Amino acid sequence: MIVILALITVINYGNAQTNAAITSKNGLVSSREKVEMLFPGGKTKALILSFDDGMVADRRLVSLMNEYGLIGTFHLNSNKLGTKDYLTKEEIKVVYKGHEVSAHTVNHPNLPDISRAEVLYEVGEDRRELERLSGNLVRGMAYPFGNYNDSVIEIINGLGIEYARTVKDTYSFGIPDEFLKWNPTIHQFGKAYFTSGNPENDKKELAGFYQVVNHFLKTDSLALLDVWGHSWENDGAGDRWTEMEKFFKMVSGNPDIYYTTQIGLVDYINAFKNLKFSVDKSMVTNLSSINVFIKMKGKAFNIEAGSTRLLY
Ligand SMILES: [Zn+2]
Repeated sequence: MIVILALITVINYGNAQTNAAITSKNGLVSSREKVEMLFPGGKTKALILSFDDGMVADRRLVSLMNEYGLIGTFHLNSNKLGTKDYLTKEEIKVVYKGHEVSAHTVNHPNLPDISRAEVLYEVGEDRRELERLSGNLVRGMAYPFGNYNDSVIEIINGLGIEYARTVKDTYSFGIPDEFLKWNPTIHQFGKAYFTSGNPENDKKELAGFYQVVNHFLKTDSLALLDVWGHSWENDGAGDRWTEMEKFFKMVSGNPDIYYTTQIGLVDYINAFKNLKFSVDKSMVTNLSSINVFIKMKGKAFNIEAGSTRLLY
């Protein structure tokens, strides 16, 4: 008997699914099982807070985050540390304890404007110095001014950078599929305070920001809220520290939310992508060191790190 096996595997995010179609002449199996990613603990919401530049206001921001049990990703310019209004090199390990330290280049240049050799130095040297200062691996970055081009991506990829955040707000909750072109959901408070002396606009933008946050809190679909900004912005006009605390209060202590860093989410998504399924999808192996949660046939499963399990 001739058995024809046609295997089609498609993985995409947002509508994360894996399909396997199997046909045989005797009609034994016809299986197209959708495998959806859930966040750790079977959660459907993830929160990332990511702040750039490493200025002294990070001290206050991080202590506020710690107070609310929130974790963040902090993109730092190693050559600016120790200069006026920036954190000192010595306090990196202490201030960002429990948070992710990530690269933002040595000197904050506009990467598409400089030579390949300079990009290599700006990113590679920032990684090396931040790894020395934090005592942890630095595997991601935020582009200064959010700017990049194909050549920049090729170079940072070669330097072992696994994700790079832009400043292009999506106003949506999708899971990034290109980690080196990672567009966040929204800037802190939207575009409030972007132009001074425009309280009407500030009010409108703030309302829009909280609308996005509330939408995230209410949605039932798989959703990532990725808010980015700078601690130093909060020292500007208006009562932005109070707004920041109000926002932290809204999103903290929620059992439905997976609180993570950017690299934490990258590792989790990669672990999901690397799950190995049997032909008929009845078995799955998780080769990673992270427990991975999936949804299949309307049921949630925990695929424990390093294990193989039956799904049905
Ligand atoms: Zn910056």
